[in-house]
Amino acid sequence: MRKTLFQSIVEGSLTEPRPAADEAALAEVAASLERSARRKLGRSLSIRAVDAGSCNGCELEMHALSNSFYDLERFGLRFVASPRHADVLMVTGPVTKNMREALERTYQATPDPKWVVAVGDCALDGGMFAGGYACVGGVSAVIPVDLHIHGCPPNPVQLLKGLLALLEGSNASRK
Ligand code: SF4
Repeated sequence: MRKTLFQSIVEGSLTEPRPAADEAALAEVAASLERSARRKLGRSLSIRAVDAGSCNGCELEMHALSNSFYDLERFGLRFVASPRHADVLMVTGPVTKNMREALERTYQATPDPKWVVAVGDCALDGGMFAGGYACVGGVSAVIPVDLHIHGCPPNPVQLLKGLLALLEGSNASRK
């Protein structure tokens, strides 16, 4: 223990420094998203995350949107616990056979108008899991998809830009 303490004092922290983010660019994307949501929906955007069978890499990036660094709730973006309160379903992973019915039921429980965003390369076509015995395929093999965000995994800024593109390209309104 003493040796470990001494080592940590001499060598310093081994924790990687946080990535240098362009705070101004991040704030601009998030603020645009908030403005767009208010214009289209009359309120902030509610998102239900659905893990349809991912490795959790995509979830880590989505969770990062809520951490103290990105803190997206300050711009009105929020994750909700129920699909009945959601505008957007963000679906990750290849859809597994076990999750197929749950994904279909979640989609049916989400009120119209609704959008589905497939997050990550696996959500497009199954990715590295395509053809596996437990894999149905991409999200669009089960429910209609409005937008696909590439990446393995996509980072939080890519996720925000995807959501913004979704709102800007949509004619739907819930006002
Ligand atoms: S896209 Fe990559 S990070 Fe996301 S579920 Fe697939 S393998 Fe995991």
